[in-house]
Amino acid sequence: ATPLAILVATTAAGRKGILIKGGDIFETLSGTTTVVLDKTGTITRGKPSITDLHDFARSPAFLQHAASLEAASEHPTAQAIVGAWKGGELLKVDHFRAIPGRGVSGMIAGESWLAGSEPFMKQEAVAITPEEHSVAAQLETEGKTVVLVACNGGLAGVIGLIDDLRDDALPLIEGLRKKGLSIQILTGDNRGVADYIAARCGITDVQAALGPLEKAAVIRELKAKGECVMMVGDGINDAPALTEADTGVTVGQASGIAIESAGVAILKDDLRLINTLLDSSSKCFSVIR
Ligand code: ADP
Ligand code: MG
Repeated sequence: ATPLAILVATTAAGRKGILIKGGDIFETLSGTTTVVLDKTGTITRGKPSITDLHDFARSPAFLQHAASLEAASEHPTAQAIVGAWKGGELLKVDHFRAIPGRGVSGMIAGESWLAGSEPFMKQEAVAITPEEHSVAAQLETEGKTVVLVACNGGLAGVIGLIDDLRDDALPLIEGLRKKGLSIQILTGDNRGVADYIAARCGITDVQAALGPLEKAAVIRELKAKGECVMMVGDGINDAPALTEADTGVTVGQASGIAIESAGVAILKDDLRLINTLLDSSSKCFSVIR
């Protein structure tokens, strides 16, 4: 393709809300063989609703403490938990920390609180009884995201959430399949919900409970096997993978670090524009080869 053809394609993409951040991106895109999709907030809405609240009653007002902790987090599950507290009083949190793909922690009134996934609880040496584990495991088999809430090293409660597939996820995947591309899902979420969402998409290649660096490692392995990888993600936890991929793509509202790490930012909130993007890259480069 001539520089002029690329300029024309870049401008046309820009008019559709597709921001291309480099001169060779169309050429790289035209060679794409594998598309890796993040789950939460990418092919799901990222607006989960709470379906289950289990209060183990070891500490009073566990939802209030969980909401207070989550108020400082930008994660979609955090916003749902804050919403569930329905504007009630939030407690002061000291030493707040967010661990991407895992959860959040902080001190509330001298107590140490955590909210996040089961692997995060294990990492933080929280004691989980077999009964508590089975509550979480049951929610996972129901295809739910599970947030465990701990206080001073013991579980205070468990929250189950459901996040629907986006309406444009299946059209995106159908379009990618028609192009003969391999498709995988990577998620920091649990195995049960990952399998549930993958099944709804007809995708068998799915990996769960991955931290941000593990997502990037999967991409590195694909590239080492000779795949040309496009990664689509939205969160802080996707930033290393977006950087590692041959082409990183964000769609719609993504976290600032994700947008910075991606070579393509689709500003319009429509997953189908990924197919538009791939089509225009092959129009630019198929004739020349
Ligand atoms: P995905 O890779 O699908 O986008 P994330 O990596 O963002 O998912 O999150 C993975 C898991 O980490 C979530 O399902 C949740 O259990 C946990 N998690 C991450 N951030 C938070 C948070 N702020 N509060 C509670 N749990 C969290
Ligand atoms: Mg995500």
